[in-house]
Amino acid sequence: MTTIRTTAQLLEAGMIEPEKIKKLEEVTKKFAVSLTPQLTELINLEVTGTSMAIRKQFLPDEQELIVNAAELKDPIGDTVFEGVKGVVHRYPDRCLLMPINTCPVYCRFCFRREKVGKNDSALTKEELERAFSYIESQPKIWEVILTGGDPLFLKPKKLNELLNRLDRIPHVEVVRIHTRVPAVDSARITEEMINALKINKALYVALHANHASEFTEPVRAACAKIVNAGIPMISQTVLLKGINDTPEALGDLMRTLVKNRIKPYYLHHADLAEGTSHFRTTLEEGRHLMKSLWGNYSGLCQPTYVLDIPGGHGKVPVSCHQYFSAEEVSGSAAESYRVEDYQGKFHSYKA
Ligand code: SF4
Repeated sequence: MTTIRTTAQLLEAGMIEPEKIKKLEEVTKKFAVSLTPQLTELINLEVTGTSMAIRKQFLPDEQELIVNAAELKDPIGDTVFEGVKGVVHRYPDRCLLMPINTCPVYCRFCFRREKVGKNDSALTKEELERAFSYIESQPKIWEVILTGGDPLFLKPKKLNELLNRLDRIPHVEVVRIHTRVPAVDSARITEEMINALKINKALYVALHANHASEFTEPVRAACAKIVNAGIPMISQTVLLKGINDTPEALGDLMRTLVKNRIKPYYLHHADLAEGTSHFRTTLEEGRHLMKSLWGNYSGLCQPTYVLDIPGGHGKVPVSCHQYFSAEEVSGSAAESYRVEDYQGKFHSYKA
């Protein structure tokens, strides 16, 4: 089995219907498609009547041609903060470094879909050196987040050179890698790749996963290799309509992550990327889902629900269901609050 990148290959694999090919060709002209053999196999195992979570995340759909007025080419405003090519410096103590523009798979809701997969480019040696010089010139940068594109799509030797270069910058104390590779192309997590990740500074791997059904045996084994090497794993999930927007689907995913020693980190409200409105829930729906996780699922299973404010203004937590409110208590100096428990019952709290 090879990687599927065209509508003709999708047709041949029986993944799209012939009458849809014209529309889907329009879609794939705008946004890249890629399905690793591992995902193709998983899609073939999906049973009608289930959420078809893998199929929906990776197969092109004609709804992607619908561009809603609020949608943007650069929904989180990366370009506004691009210090030098490949470096986005939005917050004072951290920056993104994007060494590569390609991914093993292309998620249909990707917030960088205008950029990734357009050409097989990675930063040149000179561009990378300019990126390192920029990071060196900014002593407040404490953490560098490798993203892209998928950094684990780089060859281990190249990745290791890059990580060692960051390791030598004294003020960079933490490196974080955002990736889908362990879940979509698990065979890339070889001993060589694990060794490439070993640097002196703290390094975290953030896995992008959106549904518990992504955790097949090879995926669990790839994650175990990373964790067993002493590399902590965290997760990022995008809240997706029809895929993980029920308390059961979201709770199941969070438990699956924790069982695999991956701490749930972010639940992203789906960004306003062009052609993705069919994936977006409302913020209110997201907040209700977060409320359903609280109390019913272990504290380890709680991610932070965040919205990336369009225009580059950064992430803000939006999960905070108001669990308490101040109470007026006449004649009392004590502070008094009305507190709601996870079952929706109210209690008084005085301090
Ligand atoms: S892996 Fe990340 S960067 Fe690549 S297509 Fe998916 S969301 Fe976009």
